[in-house]
Amino acid sequence: MVDIKTVGVIGAGQMGSGIAHVVALAGYDVLLHDVSPERIDQGIALIEKNMTRQVGRGLIEHTAMEAAIKRIKAAPELQTVGGSDLAIEAATENEETKKNIFKALGPHLGPKTLLASNTSSISITRLASVTDRPDRFIGLHFMNPVPVMKLVEIIRGIATGPETYETAVAFAQSLGKTTSNAEDFPAFIVNRVLVPMINEAIYTLYEGVGTVDAIDTALKLGANHPMGPLELGDFIGLDTVLSIMNVLHEGLADSKYRPCPLLTKYVEAGWLGRKSGRGFYDYRGDVPVPTR
Ligand code: NAD
Repeated sequence: MVDIKTVGVIGAGQMGSGIAHVVALAGYDVLLHDVSPERIDQGIALIEKNMTRQVGRGLIEHTAMEAAIKRIKAAPELQTVGGSDLAIEAATENEETKKNIFKALGPHLGPKTLLASNTSSISITRLASVTDRPDRFIGLHFMNPVPVMKLVEIIRGIATGPETYETAVAFAQSLGKTTSNAEDFPAFIVNRVLVPMINEAIYTLYEGVGTVDAIDTALKLGANHPMGPLELGDFIGLDTVLSIMNVLHEGLADSKYRPCPLLTKYVEAGWLGRKSGRGFYDYRGDVPVPTR
């Protein structure tokens, strides 16, 4: 197995910062990169805030937090990440963006560096094909919020080698996570099931079957879901939900996966959910208020 000491994380949004958080707490050195330097600073600030909360709840020691924060280094230049033993890409859910990142990173990679993508839906085989090392490329799909959620879905591309797979499983376990294997088909397991449900909830809203509040209350109290589907869509990010529906629609060529026009409209408006302050709920006040 490959010995991992330094982990590069590309993309410092909600997932990248969450991944950096758990990886640093597990004792690895972290290089955190984003195309926007402010996002790196915001990501590190968010990690500190979330770790402070964990200390307050007695989940981690204050000394562990301090040591973990010290292990996280900002890497404003992508090429720096090439020196890591494992580089995990967690940038925006867009195939071209991700391919361009792997192409740009290629010339700076150490010979043994493993590559992973945290994509929610895009083919690992296709992403791996733009690199010089498809055998050392794997899908490591963390769940949101990363410090809380126990699962890492592991996706092998057609060329992923057994050593890469074994290292990835051991790495995820070293973070205290449980792994589940999914084949490399659009949206894998979790999002193949979850995201069409969210899209269906948006159709239910679009067709006037219920209001935002009625739909979320119905699924929370009627199906015992901890969050309603519209609240969950806002939490994931509606741009990500739309991208996943498009990947399912195009990849499986089945009309049952067509994205709801109301989802498209919210994304076009920039109402992306929690991260932009407004989605199916408006988060700009003290309590979230339904927007429909
Ligand atoms: P986000 O919008 O919070 O963050 C994306 C980050 O990527 C931003 O900071 C952006 O500046 C950065 N970025 C964009 N282009 C880049 C580039 N060329 N180089 C470097 N950084 C770049 O999104 P997120 O929710 O963190 O999602 C990131 C990835 O994780 C996506 O692939 C998404 O599908 C996946 N994912 C998301 C969730 C979720 O619930 N949101 C869960 C699991 C996996």
